Amino acid sequence: MSTTFENVKTPSYVIDEEKLIKNLEILNDVQVRSGARILLAQKAFSAYSTYPTIARYLSGTTSSGLFEAKLAFEEFHDETGEKKEVHVFEPAFCDDEFEEVCRISDHIVFNSLSQLEHHRRTWEKPALEGQLFVGLRVNPEYSTQEGHEIYDPCAPGSRLGIRLCDLPDVLPKGVSGFHFHTLCEQGFEPLKETFEEFEKKFVKYLGRENDSQIKWINLGGGHHITRDDYDRDGLARLVKYIREKYDVTVYLEPGEAIALDAGYLVTTVMDIVKTDRYPVLILDTSAACHMPDVLEMPYRPPLRDSGEAGEKKYTYRLSSRTCLAGDVIGDYSFDKEIKIGDRLVFEDMAIYSMVKNNTFNGMPLPDICILRRSGECDVVKEFGYDDFKCRL
Ligand SMILES: *Cc1c(COP(=O)(O)O)cnc(C)c1O
Repeated sequence: MSTTFENVKTPSYVIDEEKLIKNLEILNDVQVRSGARILLAQKAFSAYSTYPTIARYLSGTTSSGLFEAKLAFEEFHDETGEKKEVHVFEPAFCDDEFEEVCRISDHIVFNSLSQLEHHRRTWEKPALEGQLFVGLRVNPEYSTQEGHEIYDPCAPGSRLGIRLCDLPDVLPKGVSGFHFHTLCEQGFEPLKETFEEFEKKFVKYLGRENDSQIKWINLGGGHHITRDDYDRDGLARLVKYIREKYDVTVYLEPGEAIALDAGYLVTTVMDIVKTDRYPVLILDTSAACHMPDVLEMPYRPPLRDSGEAGEKKYTYRLSSRTCLAGDVIGDYSFDKEIKIGDRLVFEDMAIYSMVKNNTFNGMPLPDICILRRSGECDVVKEFGYDDFKCRL
């Protein structure tokens, strides 16, 4: 079904194809200049109707487990049918899922030596025959984030990644790569520092001289490569240095950067409630249900044609039709008075939104649309009562 942006049913997520392609062109340029292989981290964005477009530019996908890996295996192809890489990392793999994980993946990353050995009987044969690449996630123990502990895998007590002190001098047989993921929405400088720390600590496993078994290094995600101010020249230099010095394939697996600023959540004002502070707009969307990172991260989503509270003439608190008192998106101001029935457009809503939403309070899920370069808006998914009922 096709409509226009002005007429989409609300609430709807609208993916902006032109902006998505702009990001993909930037990422492909980094691949070409640096020799890195860039993967889509599906955890951030898995609206698979866009996969044929993304697969035209990127080298593959990464997954947090069987379901995401399966989605990539089924859907992530471009029109040439060229095989794209399926990577998977999970802190622990289920016994009854692992055979399938092995069958559909090219790279499997383990979070511990005990998981590596626990599943060895399943992965060892394809790995030794060169059909499958098996790696270890390491913890460089180098935090570059402050105040964001839930997104810092290097925070004290972290379960994510093996510390140098827990690795044997000789790596277990069959291991061919290292993986680390420590960043979140960061520029190039923290990656450079983290790599230098990783290199200092783990160099004994790398290098051409000692006939290293490490053939690939995955630098994880959290790189805001498509942001205007990202130092992409620096990134290309670092990747080239790693490839040339250690004779390895270098992977990057950003999620956010792929669909950064490439989607909207369109909503309608259902009511306006007077309070002892700002008047509250009751929207047909919800922070808790449709943009949970607003409460979890937390952050204030950009809203088209608006300012900070008090900046423009009319200030409102934007909230939701759920019964959760704290289901508040934020305080925003506008040049003109808002009326019931007005439509509002939240920006940068492609990432960590569709993949995280829920039907708490019996809230309907927003439809998913794609705004084509032609201006047409295709409705690719519609949700209703059954999507609520079937999960309970
Ligand atoms: C979350 C995650 C990513 C993607 O992170 P972004 O912040 O979306 O770029 C990549 N790799 C791993 C292991 C992750 O957990």
